[in-house]
Amino acid sequence: MKLDSKIPEGPLAQKWDNYKAGQKLVNPANKRNLDIIVIGTGLAGASAAASFGEMGFKVKNFTIQDSPRRAHSIAAQGGINAAKNYPNDGDSVHRLFYDTVKGGDYRAREANVYRLAQVSNDIIDQCVAQGVPFAREYGGTLDNRSFGGAQVSRTFYAKGQTGQQLLIGAYQALMRQVNAGTVDMYTRTEIVDYVIVDGKARGVIARDLVTGEFSRHFGHAVVMATGGYGNTFFLSTNAMGSNGSAAIKAYQKGAAFANPCFAQIHPTCIPVHGEFQSKLTLMSESLRNDGRIWVPKKKEDAEAIRAGKKKATDLSEEERDYYLERRYPAFGNLVPRDVASRAAKERCDAGFGVGTTGLAVYLDFKTAIERLGEDTIRARYGNLFQMYEKIVDDNPYKEPMMIYPAIHYTMGGIWVDYELQTTVPGLFAAGEANFSDHGANRLGASALMQGLADGYFVLPYTIQNYLADDIRTPRMTGDEKEFVEAEAAAKAKFEKLLSIKGNRSVDSLHKELGLVMWDFVGMARNKKGLEEAIEKIAAIKKEFWTNVKIPGSGKGMNVELEKASRLADFITTGDLMARDALNREESCGGHFREEFQTEEGEALRQDDKFAYAACWEYQGEDKAPVMHKEDLTFEVVKVAQRNYK
Ligand SMILES: Cc1cc2nc3c(=O)[nH]c(=O)nc-3n(C[C@H](O)[C@H](O)[C@H](O)COP(=O)(O)OP(=O)(O)OC[C@H]3O[C@@H](n4cnc5c(N)ncnc54)[C@H](O)[C@@H]3O)c2cc1C
Repeated sequence: MKLDSKIPEGPLAQKWDNYKAGQKLVNPANKRNLDIIVIGTGLAGASAAASFGEMGFKVKNFTIQDSPRRAHSIAAQGGINAAKNYPNDGDSVHRLFYDTVKGGDYRAREANVYRLAQVSNDIIDQCVAQGVPFAREYGGTLDNRSFGGAQVSRTFYAKGQTGQQLLIGAYQALMRQVNAGTVDMYTRTEIVDYVIVDGKARGVIARDLVTGEFSRHFGHAVVMATGGYGNTFFLSTNAMGSNGSAAIKAYQKGAAFANPCFAQIHPTCIPVHGEFQSKLTLMSESLRNDGRIWVPKKKEDAEAIRAGKKKATDLSEEERDYYLERRYPAFGNLVPRDVASRAAKERCDAGFGVGTTGLAVYLDFKTAIERLGEDTIRARYGNLFQMYEKIVDDNPYKEPMMIYPAIHYTMGGIWVDYELQTTVPGLFAAGEANFSDHGANRLGASALMQGLADGYFVLPYTIQNYLADDIRTPRMTGDEKEFVEAEAAAKAKFEKLLSIKGNRSVDSLHKELGLVMWDFVGMARNKKGLEEAIEKIAAIKKEFWTNVKIPGSGKGMNVELEKASRLADFITTGDLMARDALNREESCGGHFREEFQTEEGEALRQDDKFAYAACWEYQGEDKAPVMHKEDLTFEVVKVAQRNYK
């Protein structure tokens, strides 16, 4: 497998300009004859499909939801980063680039991250032009707040519903193209495989989730923008339908899967409260602007709180340990997510946790309410407070919130070069589905930025560069043997699943996988545990393929069948994550190997051995994948041990 990152020549700040100056273009008459398939209608997919349609290409856009607007992006709460420097607090393109590389613990490609910071400001202009109602200052300028890992305020937001508002903007742009006839929209349709012809991605096999029918679709190029694989853990902050199947199918068709073990555990989620839960709720990182995180200083107080004999509000200021402010005075409550999550785990493991399980810490707005008043806090975070109260039945204006880390985002994903092209020519990956910009840890508010950067500002250039060589390739009919064979293989998989007729529900097996992932491939990992995880995942795989129970048939809607097909891919993902975590004998970002930590319990990187992206190549069912390295070189950023003190 060849990994050519195709980083353009020239100084870092000029690479993107140099690329654009030299890229090939497709003239308008030819664009009409070129088809692009876009899988996904989240921020990455919707922005890409809308842009391609506007450019004049013929687009087919697929989503598993009943409307493009139901994509998981709609759940994003806190905001989107950009280097506008409106608060005049010292921000710049370079600073955003630097914070992102440092926040990712020096495991991202410099050139991609720099381009992301460069186009960040265009995204805000584009969204404002679409009418996205970002919060504004009294004087009318756009307001900013702070997110973890930055000392400036660069996060644009629309209350705690930023993803929803951005997605409405992208959706409107997309529907304009649907009405104009440039984009054909396929809702409730799942892409179950890719079609490769002469080594190039030329189409997909789709399954209609309502009728169960399969269909073949041709594209001169295919873009997957299908989100992350956090639901491998069963419990996560991701929407129930979020899945990693399109990525695993791409991997099985020859696309390298990069850094699968880099999963983000978000520090501020509502703690697990029962065995029957199927979803965890995020409390946005923006709350750490004003909320202060603490646990009791004394174990006796923590024990009394756990036993229900004391309340948080019974403890005086002197009896509280604001452990993030104590350990990291420079960044305080706004340290990056990986650092905050580990610090919460450390306090809880040491016996200072609160809540009935002891697996919770406080997020307290007392100081902020005293300083700013309840109305200001309500205006900033009202919908999040309401959501918390509905779920937990506690009033967070009076009692501190209780929070604990949970799986939230996956930095790993399909490997892409500078053009966002995978190792399969003609197959591109965008948004959370690719591994591109966040290294080993994503900074808050940077996922929305990346998804929209990929869709609005990067792919419209790079895909032309690819398609310019394809203007003489005629459309295929879908009757070619590669299409027929791919459809037959997809059908056979679904028939096999239905034929098992075992005793275990899909959810019970998924929960079992999730527990193995959380216990052994979660917040802290070690060699023995990871080896055990690989064995346990193999046993779950065997149990799944011999004993899963799927009621009903393949005709018509069958949700259990959908879930089973996705679980088969989550099992493959889980195995890949464990293997990658075992290979990476260092701690960096969200990947914490217990054997590699400083005396103070901080992550200890091994730059001499692991300054690379680990890219896994599929070798066939039940065969161990092969790892290839993309070495990372840092020409501008000075690589150092991360320090937020
Ligand atoms: C609760 C929560 C809050 C968040 N808040 C923020 C925030 O404030 N700021 C920030 O920057 N990030 C935030 N994030 C992260 C961010 O929301 C996501 O990373 C981002 O929205 C992903 O966008 P996407 O377009 O890549 O994928 P998604 O929005 O997940 O969209 C995936 C699309 O692919 C489709 N799809 C998937 N598989 C298939 C298939 N096989 N066939 C057909 N279609 C398929 C789906 O239907 C969907 O349309 C948050 C995440 C969560 C979970």
